[in-house]
Formats: sequence, C-alpha cells, structure tokens
Amino acid sequence: MSIESASRCGPGEIAGHSFDEFREMIRQFHGSEAPGLLIGGFMVALALCNVEEGKFYDAICETRSCLPDAVQLLTPCTTGNGWLKIVPFGKFALTLYDKTDEPHKGVRVYLDAGKLKDWPEIYAWFFKLKPKAEQDRAKLTEEIRQAGTSILTVTRVSVKDEFAKKAHKGKTGVCPQCGEAYPLKDGETCLACQGNMVYV
Ligand SMILES: [Zn+2]
Repeated sequence: MSIESASRCGPGEIAGHSFDEFREMIRQFHGSEAPGLLIGGFMVALALCNVEEGKFYDAICETRSCLPDAVQLLTPCTTGNGWLKIVPFGKFALTLYDKTDEPHKGVRVYLDAGKLKDWPEIYAWFFKLKPKAEQDRAKLTEEIRQAGTSILTVTRVSVKDEFAKKAHKGKTGVCPQCGEAYPLKDGETCLACQGNMVYV
C-alpha cells in the first residue's frame, strides 16, 4: 500500500477516524467491540504516522487475534491479497515495512506492558487477570480511549529479504488419493490425505 495519510496523526485519532467512528467500524466488521481491536487501531495509526509517505508498505502481525482485523480495516493490506502476513508468535505487535526497497525498513509497534501502570483495566485485560464476566467493559474502553498511543512503543526494524519476497506456490497437481488439486511441493499426496484431517 502507498502511505498518503501520514499527515493525519492528530491526538486520539485513528488513521483519520474518531475513536467512536472506529468503534462503529469494529462492530460492523469484527462483530463485537474487542478491546484488542480498539488498541490495534491506535497501533496501526501510530505505525502509519511513522513511515515515509509515498512508499509501498506491507504489514506483519505477530498474533492471529484482533490485530489482523485492525490492519485490514485501516489499510489495503489483507491476508487474502498477501500484503498482510501473520507470524503466530502470540505477541501483540505489528509492523509496516517497505516491501520494494532493500533493506526492507519498517516500523514495529507493540503494546508495552511497562507503560500500563496507570491503566489498571487495560493491564488486567492484557494479562488476562479477570474472567470476562468481571471485566468492566465501559471502564476498559474509556481507558483505551484516554491512553491512546501512550501505551505503545515504536521501534525501527528491517525485515529479512526472504520474508518480504512474495512466496511462490510452485506447481499444482491432482492428489491420487482424494482427487483434488494441491501444491505438489507438499508431497505424494495432499496434506489432508497425509493425515492432517480437519473433518471427521
Ligand atoms: Zn488428497
């Protein structure tokens, strides 16, 4: 994606949207107002404010939960178009990086546990200290609104070239066991027929 929005870095703003507008976008897209997605919005916004304008950026999320939806809502990067990659480390961090020029310079943003001492509800949510039923959702949302980007840390990174390159799928063949097409690099039969069955 090309960054044109770097000027839109107003306090409390999420990539050109107000906090309440973003809450509505989340409800429509994600189905519920997930706290991780609210914070994720600020994370994407902060990353966007810290990259150079006019270059093409891809995204990395280091967790499958919530953050990929923030990237998909606020940038043209999706897992489907391959501009968003997920590395499932279970870490609440995301990176935008220059996909064309080497080194692939980027900006990594993470939720910084060391910055949560003034935000008890966010702390309790992040470290899963309370069962969902005991969470004070209104207070949590308000803390997220007030904290904004102050609970985040930005670092400069360079992404490995082999990771930044588009992965080639290789040749496709027909699996002799199930008769469906599959990537030949997976072996003699498709991965499902090799025992990785999802269905009973
Ligand atoms: Zn098969």
